[in-house]
Amino acid sequence: MLSSLEIAQAATLRPITDIAADAGIEPDELEQYGRFKGKVDLSLIDRLSSRPDAKLINVTAITPTPAGEGKTTTSVSLTQGLGALGHKPVLALREASLGPVFGVKGGAAGGGYAQVVPMEDLNLHFTGDLHAITAANNLLSAMIDAHLLHGNKLGIDPITISWRRCMDMNDRSLRDIVTGLGGKVNGYPRQTGFDITAGSEIMALVAVARDLADLRKRLGAITVGQTYEGEPVTAEQLQAAGSMTVLLKEAIKPNLVQTLEGQPAFIHCGPFANIAHGNNSLVADRVALKLGDYVITESGFASDMGMEKFFDITCRVGDLRPSAVVLVATVKALKHHGGNIDGGMAEIEAGAANMARHIGIINGFGLQAVVGVNKFPTDTPEELELVRRLAVEHGAYAAEVNTAFEHGGEGAIALSEAVVAAADEPNGFTFAYPADAPIEEKIRSIVQKVYGGDDVQLLPAAKEKAAAFEKAGLGELPICMAKTHLSLSHDPTLKNAPTGFTVTVRDLRPYTGAGWIVALCGDMQTMPGLGAKPAAFAIDVDEHGNTVGLF
Ligand code: ADP
Ligand code: MG
Repeated sequence: MLSSLEIAQAATLRPITDIAADAGIEPDELEQYGRFKGKVDLSLIDRLSSRPDAKLINVTAITPTPAGEGKTTTSVSLTQGLGALGHKPVLALREASLGPVFGVKGGAAGGGYAQVVPMEDLNLHFTGDLHAITAANNLLSAMIDAHLLHGNKLGIDPITISWRRCMDMNDRSLRDIVTGLGGKVNGYPRQTGFDITAGSEIMALVAVARDLADLRKRLGAITVGQTYEGEPVTAEQLQAAGSMTVLLKEAIKPNLVQTLEGQPAFIHCGPFANIAHGNNSLVADRVALKLGDYVITESGFASDMGMEKFFDITCRVGDLRPSAVVLVATVKALKHHGGNIDGGMAEIEAGAANMARHIGIINGFGLQAVVGVNKFPTDTPEELELVRRLAVEHGAYAAEVNTAFEHGGEGAIALSEAVVAAADEPNGFTFAYPADAPIEEKIRSIVQKVYGGDDVQLLPAAKEKAAAFEKAGLGELPICMAKTHLSLSHDPTLKNAPTGFTVTVRDLRPYTGAGWIVALCGDMQTMPGLGAKPAAFAIDVDEHGNTVGLF
């Protein structure tokens, strides 16, 4: 079989104007970025406001191995499968971050014959959204330091400044830095650091803004630090919000591309699901919901991570109501949770405890779980059938093997039919916690109901902040947990179905612009690093100028 990059490079793409026309997008609602990419104007949501929304299908996974189990691939598979069945599916995915592309995880376009294209563009600079987000973030940083230098009229206490710079690269050397060295012309020295753009509040905020006016308002509401009297200081007070909005004027419009089989795909915003909320933009979902009959959207990592945040944050903020969930499982991940990634049937049986927990989490939100067993080349028919059977035994509504990586949409027909049936069932969708519960209670609900832990412990810094936020009127914001994705618990070494653990929250960050409170669990880093053998080693151009080594 050809590599994913070769398949993508060999594909014949339809002009994006055709994809848009088929989807019901008016010519003046599409702004082209070359022949195969476009941005869609948000006015479309108003034009089609009287049209009923499509059914919303969330794609999540069991606790993954570091390489990923194929959620993006499955999301594309399902879109292609539903298309093959004659439906009008629309896909909504996150944009790639250069961190994972050049790190270990690889790109974000799916794989094999289940990809979105143009794959290289998607995984590199695309339409420039991440660059715009980085620029807006760093404009605010520059304005803070200039404010301090030019008299500090707002009386900002420099040690309280929580706003950090960002860039879209895995660079651990920038986690903790000192800026302003070199004397007074360079400003006052101050300890600060960089986060990866995919973990920044601007990324989060663009992903939940409803329109340009809402974006402007959210940017103004960002808290950068406090005054010497302990009062919050916002981006609005620094007069930064207007310029930041201008930098993000295009970035807020969802990007339209296509699957390998020509279905429309919106790829917009890319917050990570461990340190951020892990879902594509709300505007992409809303546009997609007006255009198709099924909207397939992936949330990052496993159901305890991106899916929980999709429901408790995105769906709450955006008033979205999901119809069903696809849970991606693989033979390899079950063996990994069963104690030996190279094991056999016994390890699959043991590792099914992890899958069972994720089915339970999905059911806990009042939704049906359809398990998609993503077939890898080394899996045997017996192994695949065992995973499928165990999924049904553990409470899945249905479970089907998905071979779309090899066969395109045809390989996802059974899975697509199961999803259609599940989405037709009545559901009792519910959140994990009510917005008006105390902050600590909300975190406890997530830990107990979703992670299956005993309790939560807020360290003193986090406890103090919880009290301060409640006093400042932020008590009703939802919670964004920053937690490892490698375990249902906060400890990445606890595989499979851990119980009896208490999650430690070391700090809380007020994302008053995005509109939630980030709870930092364990020792989560907001700037990743590169390993000894990053994907960057293999990425190159060949003698014809073609890219090689992207995956
Ligand atoms: P996720 O979205 O869950 O992180 P992806 O869909 O991005 O996972 O897949 C992770 C990696 O595994 C990608 O490089 C992809 O090409 C590869 N992959 C996914 N499904 C298969 C499969 N069925 N066979 C072989 N490789 C696959
Ligand atoms: Mg993915």
